[in-house]
Amino acid sequence: MSVNKEATLSELEVLVELQELDTRLSQLDHKSRTLPELEHLAKLEAEDSELESKFAEIELELSALRKSQNDREVEIQQLEDKVAKATSSLYGGDMTSPKEAAALQSEIDSLAGRQSVLEDQIIELMEEIEPYATEEERIEVARNACLETVLATQDKIAMVLSEIEAERSAVKQEKQSVEERAGNDLVLLYEDNRKRMGDHTAVGRLMGTSCGACFLEIAAVEIDRIRRLPSDQPSECPECGALLVR
Ligand SMILES: [Zn+2]
Repeated sequence: MSVNKEATLSELEVLVELQELDTRLSQLDHKSRTLPELEHLAKLEAEDSELESKFAEIELELSALRKSQNDREVEIQQLEDKVAKATSSLYGGDMTSPKEAAALQSEIDSLAGRQSVLEDQIIELMEEIEPYATEEERIEVARNACLETVLATQDKIAMVLSEIEAERSAVKQEKQSVEERAGNDLVLLYEDNRKRMGDHTAVGRLMGTSCGACFLEIAAVEIDRIRRLPSDQPSECPECGALLVR
């Protein structure tokens, strides 16, 4: 590492400023990834997909039951037509044979018997349908409510993210102006340290006898050594390796 010989204490300060701005940028990244609304949204989506699969099960049951009911209603309609036809033949006046009349009467009775069986079945089916239909409606209401909350949550997320984005671009702009003030050598020194330190804070201010990056106490002998270095010569924290600005 080599720094411009003219670097002074105040010039190295700029490294701390850069670090603080990068720390703010990573805090903003972290904030945007861990919004409580994102967790809420994931829960809502899970809830909705659970409701959706319950709804599909109920629809399957309901459509079978409703088809049975409809089939019977269609059949009843056909029976009623036949009864009407037989009744009109019976009382239409063109009936001659008593045997024929008895046969028609017996047909009408039999049609009516079948109709009454079907009507009883329809009542049973309607009773069976009722709890499913209630559940169907409940799920529809719940899904609509869920969807509304999803939309509101998405709006909230978009709003918060755009606030974060605005802050991020302000911080980036600030960083750019600090970099211009720092000059290439110090920016390179800073960038090298960032790479070397990875996720760890790369620059810390020496605060008394502690490191401003890891907050650990530095041994007295090390402090002595660091303090004796020329002010333009960067030193590293013996605990975490961050560049120490003093
Ligand atoms: Zn340290």
